[in-house]
Amino acid sequence: MPPANFDFHCHSTVSDGLLAPEALARRAAANGVDLWALTDHDDIGGLVSGSEAAAEAEIGFVTGVEISVEWRGTPIHVVGLGFDPQAGQLAAGLDNLKQGRFERARRMSDALAAVGIPGVLEGALAYAANPGLISRAHFARYLVATGIAKDVQTVFQHYLVPGKPGYVNHQWATLDEAVGWITGAGGVAVVAHPGRYKVSGVVMRTLLGDFAAAGGQGIEVVCGSHTPEHVLHFARLARHFGFHASRGSDFHGPEESYIDLGRLPGLPEDLQPVWQLLS
Ligand code: AMP
Ligand code: MN
Ligand code: MN
Ligand code: MN
Repeated sequence: MPPANFDFHCHSTVSDGLLAPEALARRAAANGVDLWALTDHDDIGGLVSGSEAAAEAEIGFVTGVEISVEWRGTPIHVVGLGFDPQAGQLAAGLDNLKQGRFERARRMSDALAAVGIPGVLEGALAYAANPGLISRAHFARYLVATGIAKDVQTVFQHYLVPGKPGYVNHQWATLDEAVGWITGAGGVAVVAHPGRYKVSGVVMRTLLGDFAAAGGQGIEVVCGSHTPEHVLHFARLARHFGFHASRGSDFHGPEESYIDLGRLPGLPEDLQPVWQLLS
């Protein structure tokens, strides 16, 4: 039977989510999700417990990850689905990415210290269950707790985005690397939340062309950060490029995410859903 409600994008405490993989599986089931992927940033350490908890909750499980990429100077995210988590090249690539991520966190902390906000790396680490996966979300949670800003959104606006004191440039994986690790492990690569990238229409088409040339096959059409206009726009691009369409909440936690697991509109009906590519 085809899934009635699939959600292929969310985060656990293995990256910057607020719930453990087991709790996410139960929440997905309670929300009516029947096919679920856990897609932590750059880390597949939650997949074993996620898959066991999904089996217990009697929902289908798909392996997932959200890989951080820098493409022509723009940070973008690529979701991998349905890969073999034992594949060596994927694991090695993700380990490398995590080392770079920690070193970047030090540079972010140094940059904040230079504007009079000391000790942020140590503070943020207290919010990271998995220190290797320290992210701007952990920095933001710590900075809110210090009283520097009223909420996570405001911290991002004033400190953690390009042009602000806590943002540093970073070389993530290349697009070819990320897609290659996923497809090399037997998985399907999907462009995550394309509506979030601040690029022109021409550049978006170049990105999607490069992604297809690298072996990418899917695009998130319905996702937590897309407006109804984004859905129409990226549905058109999915048709144009012959991509399969994905759907994912990008849920991080009840306090932080506006869209809960599985609580999304359906895909436009003529699109090929990405689960069709999963064996
Ligand atoms: P990083 O991978 O360290 O660059 O952190 C990116 C993460 O920060 C995203 O996956 C989100 O969880 C979070 N994030 C990024 N931008 C925002 C924002 N404007 N407001 C809230 N959270 C954000
Ligand atoms: Mn995140
Ligand atoms: Mn993302
Ligand atoms: Mn995400």
